[in-house]
Amino acid sequence: MLAFPKLRFIQARMIGTRRSVRLAIKATAIDEHDFPSLRSTNTNRKGSKGDQESTDDSSLSSLEDDARSQKGEQIGDDDFTQPPAKSQRRKRQPKPEPVYVIPDVERKATTFKGRLGYACLNTVLRNKKPASESIFCSRTCRLDSIAKNGLDWVKDLGRKNVEDLITMIQWNEDHHIRFLRVSSEMFPFASHAIHGYNLEYCAPLLARVGLLANKYGHRLTTHPGQYTQLGSPRPEVVQSAVRELRYHCELLDRMGVGIDGVMIVHGGGVYDDKGATLERIKKTITEVLPENVRNRLVLENDELCYNAEDLLPLCEELDVPLVFDYHHDSLNPSSIPPSAIIKRANSIFARRGIKPKQHLSEPRPGAETLMERRAHADRCESLPMDLPDDMDLMIEAKDKEQAVLHLYRMYDLHPVDHSSLRPPDENQTKETKGRKSNKKGRAAQKSVDNGDTETSQVVDDEPPRKRRKASKVTILAVETTSQTEAIASTVA
Ligand SMILES: [Zn+2]
Repeated sequence: MLAFPKLRFIQARMIGTRRSVRLAIKATAIDEHDFPSLRSTNTNRKGSKGDQESTDDSSLSSLEDDARSQKGEQIGDDDFTQPPAKSQRRKRQPKPEPVYVIPDVERKATTFKGRLGYACLNTVLRNKKPASESIFCSRTCRLDSIAKNGLDWVKDLGRKNVEDLITMIQWNEDHHIRFLRVSSEMFPFASHAIHGYNLEYCAPLLARVGLLANKYGHRLTTHPGQYTQLGSPRPEVVQSAVRELRYHCELLDRMGVGIDGVMIVHGGGVYDDKGATLERIKKTITEVLPENVRNRLVLENDELCYNAEDLLPLCEELDVPLVFDYHHDSLNPSSIPPSAIIKRANSIFARRGIKPKQHLSEPRPGAETLMERRAHADRCESLPMDLPDDMDLMIEAKDKEQAVLHLYRMYDLHPVDHSSLRPPDENQTKETKGRKSNKKGRAAQKSVDNGDTETSQVVDDEPPRKRRKASKVTILAVETTSQTEAIASTVA
């Protein structure tokens, strides 16, 4: 008998809690979606947030009172003999949409009319919540997962990656971005010596990607990783490089991507003799690569081994275009100026009928040593002086599509949807943010250092670093005329 009143109280408390959850969800929906104009006043934000915050405490007690007053009607004594069903347990309250403060950018002028692109990953789509809605194209796995789960499971990761690529292309079109580097991780282990597979099983889906990209006039390119060593003295390494290129080529061929769909590789190692290695690269290109692979191949100057001057004679001789990377050239300069390199590089592109492309990135602020300066900054703060007007420029920056939108705003290149903007990380340092603290981080950093700024994702692993959100401070989600005008109000 004594237990009954206690049970009644627990049941009433549960009903009250459920009601308060419903009310809280309603309040969030109104604030964030139904009436976006509410965001423009602090008082409304404050009020709504305050409502949410008070839900768990003061409103809970008032709802408990409310429930107590009604319990005679609502709750029969029979109910107390049953423990509450699992489905009646309090559900997790969905987090409200984060509110970002977007600082203004410095306005600059340019005559540039080309496309700006980004590599492999879209941070807005990747960070979608809940995690099940995250969109990305680099689902991969460890080698032992093939034995554990079977090849079909691995292939299914590839299919999901391609499905998400379609979403990414549509997002890009909606945001005036018409140039994208396709992730090399699209099909995990497809180029593996033992476990490799062809992409026939995904042919219709890949064709759909190409149709969409071609319809919108998007350029899709690839950048096989640093293991693609065409000049290695070890035949097995060259064979592996050729498999890698064949895989990337099959990907582009099956999409029906035209000749602008190039595959960019670096010269690779020098193996103690740059001249002899360049000869081996030449031999691989002319004697080993199948024609369709060779037709998509372009070389890029790197920051350590081969500068543009090293590669240009080979590129000119073989009619293999040279992609000029401004950042690499600043770290590993040629004796000829960028303007002269670009002129020579562009004439190869012109002879081949391929739209020229270049790479742009900047070192992180405060970087001094060569190793520090190799790491890419989150965004680029200016277009290069020597940039030709009609050029596709791949922005190799950690903030991916945000770095492109940043330049769009700075140079007024295209209209920008402000709801898709995210703030730059104020704490950008020359450090690599602990990426070197573990094995996976070191591998990721290695790929960044090699100009392939893709972030691959081993399935079930934690997502990339979260963007800093306005949490305790509520800030207007409008672009301010200057950083100092960002209006903030501390929530009580
Ligand atoms: Zn590059």
